[in-house]
Amino acid sequence: MSKANDPITMLSLLYQFPTWLQRLYPGVLWRMNTEAKVVYLTFDDGPIPECTPQILDILAQHDVRATFFMVAENAVRHPHLLERVRNEGHAVGNHTYHHMRGCKHSLADYINDVEMANQVLDTPLFRPPHGRMTSCQKRALREQGYTICLWDVLTHDYNPNYSVEHMMKVIQRFVRNGSIITCHDSIKSKDRTLLLLPQLIQYLKNQGYEFATL
Ligand SMILES: [Zn+2]
Repeated sequence: MSKANDPITMLSLLYQFPTWLQRLYPGVLWRMNTEAKVVYLTFDDGPIPECTPQILDILAQHDVRATFFMVAENAVRHPHLLERVRNEGHAVGNHTYHHMRGCKHSLADYINDVEMANQVLDTPLFRPPHGRMTSCQKRALREQGYTICLWDVLTHDYNPNYSVEHMMKVIQRFVRNGSIITCHDSIKSKDRTLLLLPQLIQYLKNQGYEFATL
């Protein structure tokens, strides 16, 4: 199959916004500006006992650090997992208190939810749930000193229609220097994420990439 006709190429926006499109959404961190072979693994929606410990085990086995964008109500329920993430050298990001979808809430409610989460998580890194929020919400959070982190490569590990083999093809196709790669530590994704993660790390290490936190 030629590259132009294969499904990953035709649907490439699902996995990566090209650089010119990323530039149309300023004030957001899509990718780290670096010439070095460094990538940034991120995990959204945890921490939860059903898979965050296993993810941490895999990261430890491979001596890899990552960034966990936590839903603060999960961190409150499982404080030992927040502590373990920090103790093992990973970074913590804010993913709101209640996994709030920006466009469904007023500016005041949204900012309040993020601030409540910050009381628990204490971090300037913020990722909006579903990757979306209103421009007013974005502006307000930036004015408060948050770095709005989206991603360069989305694995779709939460999507049961995608096999691990498919996700590895996405990684092979789209990862580049400075890529922020998004995975999840959630019930919905855990079976695929736990299978994907060792393969993803091994592949990227073989390609000469190092892993860092945001
Ligand atoms: Zn999320």
